[in-house]
Amino acid sequence: MCYDYAKMCCEIASAAGRYSIINVSKIGKSVMGRGIPCVKIGEGKYKLFLSGAYHGLEYLTAAVLVKFLKEYAAKVTKAETLLGYDVGKLYDRITLFIAPMINPDGVDIAVNGIDVSDKLHRQLIKETGIQDFAGTWQANARGVDINHNFDALWKQVKDKPSATKYGGAFPESEPETRAVTEFVRKEKPDMLIAFHSQGREIYYDFNGKEGARSREIAEKMAAVSGYSACVPEGTATFGGCKDWFIDEFGKEGFTVEMGYGKNPLSMDMLDSVYDECAKIILCVQTEMCKK
Ligand SMILES: [Zn+2]
Repeated sequence: MCYDYAKMCCEIASAAGRYSIINVSKIGKSVMGRGIPCVKIGEGKYKLFLSGAYHGLEYLTAAVLVKFLKEYAAKVTKAETLLGYDVGKLYDRITLFIAPMINPDGVDIAVNGIDVSDKLHRQLIKETGIQDFAGTWQANARGVDINHNFDALWKQVKDKPSATKYGGAFPESEPETRAVTEFVRKEKPDMLIAFHSQGREIYYDFNGKEGARSREIAEKMAAVSGYSACVPEGTATFGGCKDWFIDEFGKEGFTVEMGYGKNPLSMDMLDSVYDECAKIILCVQTEMCKK
């Protein structure tokens, strides 16, 4: 069992039907025209933006975020705690935005394979020479790696469309990237977490820059989850969402590499990885309220 765009949309719609505190909108469209959903919960003064599935093989991140929004809405509605946290209190003070799947086309290619009747897909086969896309595909439907397409020390690691690490012709060239940057520039969240897999690591720095409380909060997130707070190395050090957020706004932005293993992580890991990531999110919300 995998987790594709249709499954995510179905789960979000059913959660929104069940809990009136869930508001769903679209923050943009993918290359292939799929709407990129964003769930808003709460109207509190502090804004937290959570996003996932920038990479095709990392669909578990979307499943974890959708599970979190369902559990969070359920516990707030029933006035119960979630993993020991008083979510009613967090709900009053925080506006939570959750966009579980930034790269729906890439996820669907990784999960469902290539559709030779589609012109864009045929173009990908021609440009990349790949035949077996399931198990390799991280990029969007134009072969651009969304997490190398942000305007933060942007440079080309590869010079043509590829399964991974091609940053595009220029920063923010892709509609999926612009969906995020336009949303963030409009809503101005106080903090941001971009979820990836895998490694059980939390990155909080960009090129020596970080928000005032980045390190302190990353260490608290690490303590509740068992993950490591660290500074990224190699190609993980530029062009990503949290890099751009730190660079443009100087606020606390994080990348969480959930779970451990080889991508795609098995959906059997959903419950255990959910527990770790829910604690990370609830910890950040708690810290935001201390501001
Ligand atoms: Zn990733």
